[in-house]
Amino acid sequence: MTKHVVIVGGGYTGTCAAIQLSRQARQPLDITVIEQRASVGQGLAYSATDPDHRLNAPDMVHFVTPEDQDALRRWFEDQGGPAFDAAADSGGDVLFIRRRDFGRFLREQFDAYQADNPSGSTITHLQATAKDLEKADGDFLLGLDQAETLNADLVIVATSNERPAIPAPLRPVADHPALLGDPWGRAALGAIPKKAAILLVGTALTAADVIVSCLREGHSGPITALSRRGLQSTRRAITPGTYAVPFWSRITADTSIFVEKHGPQRRVLELLRSLRRDIRAAEANGLPWQAPFDDLRDSVWEIWPALPLDEKRRFMRHLRIWYDIHRYRLPPQLERPLDDAVASGQLRYAAAHLESACAAGEAIAVTYRHGPSIQTETFDTVINCTGPDPRPDRTDNPFLRALVARSLARPSPIGIGLDVDDDSTLVTPSGNKDPRLRAFGPLTLGQFGDPQGTPFILRHICRTMPQIVNLLEQR
Ligand SMILES: Cc1cc2nc3c(=O)[nH]c(=O)nc-3n(C[C@H](O)[C@H](O)[C@H](O)COP(=O)(O)OP(=O)(O)OC[C@H]3O[C@@H](n4cnc5c(N)ncnc54)[C@H](O)[C@@H]3O)c2cc1C
Repeated sequence: MTKHVVIVGGGYTGTCAAIQLSRQARQPLDITVIEQRASVGQGLAYSATDPDHRLNAPDMVHFVTPEDQDALRRWFEDQGGPAFDAAADSGGDVLFIRRRDFGRFLREQFDAYQADNPSGSTITHLQATAKDLEKADGDFLLGLDQAETLNADLVIVATSNERPAIPAPLRPVADHPALLGDPWGRAALGAIPKKAAILLVGTALTAADVIVSCLREGHSGPITALSRRGLQSTRRAITPGTYAVPFWSRITADTSIFVEKHGPQRRVLELLRSLRRDIRAAEANGLPWQAPFDDLRDSVWEIWPALPLDEKRRFMRHLRIWYDIHRYRLPPQLERPLDDAVASGQLRYAAAHLESACAAGEAIAVTYRHGPSIQTETFDTVINCTGPDPRPDRTDNPFLRALVARSLARPSPIGIGLDVDDDSTLVTPSGNKDPRLRAFGPLTLGQFGDPQGTPFILRHICRTMPQIVNLLEQR
């Protein structure tokens, strides 16, 4: 009988999992992607409708099969190249494509594999919300929001980015009309009065997207972006040749660049010291900090799983915020509008601790603390830009809740995403594993350290897929 694989979530991760399965299977499979959105491929990141929301890395690191890393560039040229999107080219011979266009590209890739794939598999997008998962007679039984249930031989969890959680100090105003809890709704941003005083909670990439959208829509009121340290997203340093070495080879070598250079290091302080030394050496040679930092980033797949748990926790407590701000960089197109807004005084970044918030008529009064000084300010609109919530114990995603409630999964030991082993198999609360239940993408950050960017996600999918194929053949 044809084996049935169900993939829950049809963003980048689910799309790539379906494509890789259909490429690598040696016999036809039934592959169902359960995706609650109308279209596969978009997910949270690439369903952006705003033309200023761009990929935060160049075209050549966004692909769905390592065998064809130029596909997005070709697709862009086929659309008309600069006539289609003149601003995509930011110099340095790399493109920063609009996220919505990458979502379209992914959907078209999915459609192409649906029409024809090497194993002759059937690929179906079922528009539904997965709500439950049970084991029944050796099969999996998936509960959906529709009356239907589905049987599956193997399930892949690719639900990934959860909506941002409302920070505790803002919870008393969670239902206030002046609080925008979800920053990715373009309609809601468009409805903000142009002169409104805006507070953004969060100062990194999501905040940058929101600021640039507001400015383009003619916002003239003051904008404050606040976070504990007030750190802004860092900038890229692209020169011709920056991307000369194919990215894929950097993250699929036998030994990673950083480990090759420094040997295995098991303490975050040691790693930090090595990185600082590398940065000093690079700068002495006139090279930017980004080059040695990227050597570390592209080695996380080897370094992170080898760290002892208390070192991982130490990193999460003290360094993650610094790592993230250097790792997730602005698309170059956003630099100018942000700089101009700071220079004109319309935009200010504040380092402060959010204390509390309460309704002040149609506005919200926010109290924040900077050192010993406590201040209360009133804002017409407050936007939550804290980014996707990675904690499965707080999620309202019914499928993730069911996985945990039915003891099929547990949160990762560092509290982010779900616990998986090195083969992406979910680990249950008692430490057991069923190799027919896997997870890919940002949900596996606790185990792999950096499965956020598209090539890192794909690396794990490609690495694990031969095992999944073998397993299906044995059943
Ligand atoms: C705003 C933003 C911008 C980003 N930009 C980039 C970038 O430029 N480059 C890059 O490499 N990475 C970027 N990332 C990282 C991003 O997480 C990954 O690139 C990738 O998009 C993750 O895809 P995913 O499919 O795992 O997750 P998601 O995009 O979150 O997709 C998960 C999908 O699962 C569906 N789903 C969830 N639960 C259920 C359920 N119970 N039933 C049915 N369907 C369900 C959701 O509807 C969603 O479509 C960005 C992330 C964000 C949040």
